[in-house]
Amino acid sequence: MSTTQRPLIVLGAGVIGLTTAYRVSTDPVLSSLFKITVVARDLPEDMDSQAWSSPWAGANWSPMPMGGEDERIKRWETTTFNKFWDMIPSGLVKELPSRKYGYHATDYSNVWWKDLVRNFRIMEPSEIPEGYKSGLSFSTISVSPVFYLPWLTANLVNHGVNFVRKTVRSLDELSYLAKENGILVNATALGSRSILGIEDTALYPIRGQTILVRCPSLQEFLALEGDEYSDEGGEATYIIPRPGAGDAEGTALIGGTFQVRNWDTSLNMDTARSIFMRCASLAPCLLDKGTEVLKHNVGLRPAREGGPRVEVGRVKLPLGDGLRKRAESGGNAQTEAKDELVVVHAYGFGAAGYQSSWGAVEDVVSLLKGNI
Ligand code: FAD
Repeated sequence: MSTTQRPLIVLGAGVIGLTTAYRVSTDPVLSSLFKITVVARDLPEDMDSQAWSSPWAGANWSPMPMGGEDERIKRWETTTFNKFWDMIPSGLVKELPSRKYGYHATDYSNVWWKDLVRNFRIMEPSEIPEGYKSGLSFSTISVSPVFYLPWLTANLVNHGVNFVRKTVRSLDELSYLAKENGILVNATALGSRSILGIEDTALYPIRGQTILVRCPSLQEFLALEGDEYSDEGGEATYIIPRPGAGDAEGTALIGGTFQVRNWDTSLNMDTARSIFMRCASLAPCLLDKGTEVLKHNVGLRPAREGGPRVEVGRVKLPLGDGLRKRAESGGNAQTEAKDELVVVHAYGFGAAGYQSSWGAVEDVVSLLKGNI
């Protein structure tokens, strides 16, 4: 580390932590100022761990009702859509023709993202299958966590970013940052519920059960609006084809569930059958003999009452340096104590961490620049 560089710890190696580290390490001002280390319990090689959300995502760009009225989320999702769209030629991002059907007649003529996605069109009643009352067609994108997270990681390694596996239980464990004039970016998602010094009880999980299939005829994002994103029904029916060649060719994630405050990471076979049949009614090719079931999944979306938290603050260390020094000196310490840590929070992205990522991280970068 150059003697002039300050430490920047990005706590969390999910899509938000990795995108933050990527953005900071490629920013001319911030990269010269900070030595970046990503510290996390789950690292990008842990693609089977259910303790984090990022491996289990679709992961496509498709705005949802719960983010619809939040101007910050619209801004983040706009930036992210444009960034991902520009990445299509890399092969890492797939252009995805899409259709969404609804059980209710809904006026989609003013949805905020209609001029952002490509080829947005409200379907004619004659095009809408029986049983549904509305239909939308547009082009969006998907990425595959299996390729995308390692791609971000490889870029970070090339930029000299270090990775450390560590579970942080209290901000006290990072007190050296305060002494070295460092900054913490907290991208720990649901982990922020239980880290001492953060303890954000507004966080809650939304359980998502899905199935990874190989069915090369699936070339469109298909989804039902109406049964999804509800606290009660807990069902979200969608098919998200993934980019990828070789073994990943022709794969799609089909889902799913949207079970609010459900922490259960075990598989439910009745749910799996229901997912398969719901998706097959949207895309009958799933019933073809050649369809392979590759993997059953359960992941937890890291949601937060009040929406995602992207803000900076000075956080008191729970058993701060001052407290320790006073204890060590029998209560008479005169030495200057460094009791506070500058923390930029970036967590609680719920069902939309990928589609918010690049935009939200722009806010993180602005907060960092405002605190140097
Ligand atoms: P995470 O991926 O959970 O990462 C958190 C990181 O913090 C991990 O590295 C973890 O180990 C670390 N950590 C936590 N606590 C500690 C601690 N105490 N000490 C050290 N490290 C810690 N999003 C979309 O945009 N589009 C989709 O189509 C989509 N589909 C989804 C489908 C399903 C079934 C699921 C489950 C999610 C889906 N999501 C989707 C949501 C998306 O996956 C999340 O919003 C996103 O992954 C959150 O990223 P994150 O980096 O905030 O958190």
